[in-house]
Amino acid sequence: MDHSNGFPPWDGTSSYTSLLMNAQYGYPTYEATGSHTNVDPMFAIHGGTTSHEEAHESDDIHVDAFGEDHEDDMDQSEEEDAEAIEKAIRDEAVNPNWNIVEEPDPVRMNSWQNWNPTNEGQLEDGGEFQKGQMFSSLDELKMQLTEYSALKNRPFRVKRSDHDWYVVLCDRKDSCGCTWRLSATQVDPTIGLWRISKYAPHIPNCVGEVMETGNRNVSANFIRGKILELIRRDQTLKPTVIMEVIHGQLGVSVSYMKAWKAKHKAIAQIFGDWEQSYNDLPRYMAALVRTNPGTVVEWCNINTQDPMTKVFGRVFWAFAPSIVGFEHCRPLITIDGTHLYGKYKHVVLIAMGVDAEDQIFPLAFAIVESENGSSWPWFMDCIGRRVTQRPGLCVISDRHAGIMKAMEELDRW
Ligand SMILES: [Zn+2]
Repeated sequence: MDHSNGFPPWDGTSSYTSLLMNAQYGYPTYEATGSHTNVDPMFAIHGGTTSHEEAHESDDIHVDAFGEDHEDDMDQSEEEDAEAIEKAIRDEAVNPNWNIVEEPDPVRMNSWQNWNPTNEGQLEDGGEFQKGQMFSSLDELKMQLTEYSALKNRPFRVKRSDHDWYVVLCDRKDSCGCTWRLSATQVDPTIGLWRISKYAPHIPNCVGEVMETGNRNVSANFIRGKILELIRRDQTLKPTVIMEVIHGQLGVSVSYMKAWKAKHKAIAQIFGDWEQSYNDLPRYMAALVRTNPGTVVEWCNINTQDPMTKVFGRVFWAFAPSIVGFEHCRPLITIDGTHLYGKYKHVVLIAMGVDAEDQIFPLAFAIVESENGSSWPWFMDCIGRRVTQRPGLCVISDRHAGIMKAMEELDRW
């Protein structure tokens, strides 16, 4: 292998993903790539064709536990609360008592921890918050709050959401005078712990219509947290199934769009978001080329007014072992395309050979905007220029109009 580009030899065990995490494969060294990319590597790629669903992304926005909802009006007790907490934070360095809180009752704490919504609304007696209760993060508190709210049919609204202080009130405060209120403060910014500093329960006559649908506290962000592990196991989980899961656990119906958004938020949390993935594509391809010398990559991007920013159009690649090995395969290429079902509607084009043992032999790949009279000729041209110049090749296809156009247009085929 030729490592004259300054890269250490690949140990053959690390995955491409881990190679990409390695700083030496970062942008500063990308320039030295041996691939025939026809774009400046120091650019940001943005996704191309978006799905129709994305157009609705901004619809259906609610104020929820995860949103920012600062009410301007602060009542008297709120102001006192604020002053007390601010003073305590100011005094923290000199006041050793700040960290000493009323010891939470471990029995009730445990019953809360064990309080499981799979009981479908069968609340246990201990299913209440209490002063002193700790949460690993503000997000964790918000998840518990929302679950509590949905299961008890007691909606809440966010009164304050600061970096170190979070206050929620009963949403029926105005209609029935309920004094339910939960204040939490950040205990330690370094480990993210939050603690309930003040808690007042709902009043007995805090009742209302069962909000089976449209519970605004049950947001896409909340659902994301509920389905994260499910999505980790199965990224093809349908939004309709997510709707069933949430209804089964909390008795709350959520819209298809909310379930869809929650699924995509979960996928983004697990795998990183779609835009970042497109941005990573040039570096990923550069790593492929560097670790597999002889691998070829061709880009076809759309320029924007900003010379450093291009919009992803197409990418073609073929691995070096495929290019070398194809010489020993049967003189046959099978080509086809398949849709990507993510946020961006691209199509993967694939060319395969057949080896001497009649096994499928991967030859070349491309991601293009769609199967059309421009993308297929481009793909076939890339194969003809970069992968094989063998004469007399037989091409097997589904005779897509774009493929037929490529066959007519290109002398090579
Ligand atoms: Zn209430």
